[in-house]
Amino acid sequence: MKSLWNDKEASEFNDDLGLRVYSSRLLGGDPTLVLHGGGNTSVKITEKNILGEDENILYVKGSGWDLETIDRPGFAPVRMAHLLKLAELDSLSDSDMVNELKTHMTLASAPTPSVEAILHAIIPDKYVDHTHADAVVTVTNTPDGLERIKEIYGDSVVIIPYCMPGFDLARLCAERFKKERTDKTLGMVLMNHGIFSFADSAKESYERMIRLVNLSVKYLKSHKAWTLLSATAHLREERRSNKPLAQLRADISTAAGQAMLVKTNPAFKYYEYIKRDDISTICMQGPATPDHVIRTKRVPMLGHDVDDYVDAYKRYFDKYSAKSKNEVVMLDPAPRVVLDERFGLSSVGRTAKDTCIVEDIYDHTVDVILRASKLDRFQALPGQDIFDVEYWELEQAKLKKPGKSPIFNGEIALVTGAASGIGRACVESLLARGAAVVGLDINQTVETMFTRPDYLGIVCDVSIKQHINQALEKGLRQFGGLDMLVLNAGIFPASCEIKDLSLEAWREVMQINMDACLLFLAEAHPLLKLAPNGGRIVMMGSKNVPAPGPGAAAYSVAKAGITQLARIAALEMGPDNIRVNTLHPDAVFDTAIWTEEVLKSRAESYGMTVEEYKRKNILKTEIRSHDVAELVAEMCGPLFAKTTGAQLPIDGGNDRVI
Ligand code: ZN
Repeated sequence: MKSLWNDKEASEFNDDLGLRVYSSRLLGGDPTLVLHGGGNTSVKITEKNILGEDENILYVKGSGWDLETIDRPGFAPVRMAHLLKLAELDSLSDSDMVNELKTHMTLASAPTPSVEAILHAIIPDKYVDHTHADAVVTVTNTPDGLERIKEIYGDSVVIIPYCMPGFDLARLCAERFKKERTDKTLGMVLMNHGIFSFADSAKESYERMIRLVNLSVKYLKSHKAWTLLSATAHLREERRSNKPLAQLRADISTAAGQAMLVKTNPAFKYYEYIKRDDISTICMQGPATPDHVIRTKRVPMLGHDVDDYVDAYKRYFDKYSAKSKNEVVMLDPAPRVVLDERFGLSSVGRTAKDTCIVEDIYDHTVDVILRASKLDRFQALPGQDIFDVEYWELEQAKLKKPGKSPIFNGEIALVTGAASGIGRACVESLLARGAAVVGLDINQTVETMFTRPDYLGIVCDVSIKQHINQALEKGLRQFGGLDMLVLNAGIFPASCEIKDLSLEAWREVMQINMDACLLFLAEAHPLLKLAPNGGRIVMMGSKNVPAPGPGAAAYSVAKAGITQLARIAALEMGPDNIRVNTLHPDAVFDTAIWTEEVLKSRAESYGMTVEEYKRKNILKTEIRSHDVAELVAEMCGPLFAKTTGAQLPIDGGNDRVI
């Protein structure tokens, strides 16, 4: 590991806090040091307060900020004088500590200071850096970890035995630090937790962190415990493995009491890990550092027996809650990490972002466990310590987002014809309601139109069954199942009277506008059947079904066909708790086929202006893609929970339909 400090880059951050931002980002950018909200940093700065008095302020990472992307507002300014007085207390409850931290900031709008703020305050150096470096936790999580750390670091660090983060840890560090710090001290190793470095400049503190972590790396290398076989191959994708994955997600969602996403990574690395003879021992020890527990739970699920996992979790809760300091209520007992040799590593979360975080954390945990096993044996903290962090309200607070969670969190929607017009608008409306969305289109832009973890764009020719299956499979691996299916893909051929319509042209329209819907319904049925809140299908019909016009025989017949198909699907799938409804939009002009020119010529042929033509309906209103998409999303939501087999126009009112 090399120092990434660059004087030129650093010179752009020309003050103390700026340099704190710069080096925090350097630490945060290296996942072997810090993962997703882990670690924290601070700087002590003397400032003039509003009375003109000098005040020493600790700028410490605020909760909710990631070191990788932190900026000035991410640091909470807390008065040092008060922090040092707090450190003298014999005890301080969590709620009192948070209250004291929040009420002694110099900026009311700052984030809540890190729970390790007091610890940062008692270290006299200006800059303090704290990480959960993989290499350090690898060494400390072995039976002789303490001796090994002494051997590696000698008197360059003060060693702190494991203690739960918060006030007690700050006190313990203060005590040890006072006694044991010498001129040679560069940092502090917290057993089974992480490492601190400190110095009077941002650069020196950062580079000490790198040097200290490198000592552990060197030690692991010299004990042949560093290099891991890093095969990049993936498990051969099992054909038709759809059902077991969707079943797994359904079981996990039941255990969690709400819909969950399951992201699967079939990298060969995990397969090898799962196939180890000692896997049932090594993966059941606990996390690499305690705060991972809120993301991964203490242990993963090995195999796919969710009931078994839930029973074991309940036993774990009963055993350790009895000795817990506070009264605690059991969290949902569903696993967050699944190791199953059929799939590889699966990560569970309420949102796609959460599943990615779990996957990242467990990926590093695998490395830590494998290296510790090479060194000697992976030995995490006792269950009680992990339990206490898992049920610590200040840790759980990190997962809570303000306000109500979006209605489709934990659910997955698939939209066809997603690259433009109504399809794209449907993707947006579903994402806005918290769903993870798989967008399919024959147009390649579908892959890149959103770059966010809850969206997966797949190029797909919906007229080919194999393409449909591959797309469903990819969606499953990314999100774990399927809850909502929006069949929107279709073509709208140029006007052509029956007498001139070729069989090829007719069949092409039928294939894309109708046959594809049949394929999707058949292939998606087993997945939708496993949707935790019931499956939902919305078919994109057309005003042409109740009110056809001349010149659009193929289009209108196909749309009439899928309308009838939807009614039958509603009858057949209702017993599986799948709702099927059809929308009949009309005159949606903000789509690719309606160019300004086409609109103008159509309007002229009616003797209207373009504006009049767009509002050629009873309500004299314009129908936009967004309006249709919002109705699609609502039809998938609770408002329409008791509606199936229905057809709903969205056309501003049409006298031929009414
Ligand atoms: Zn920590």
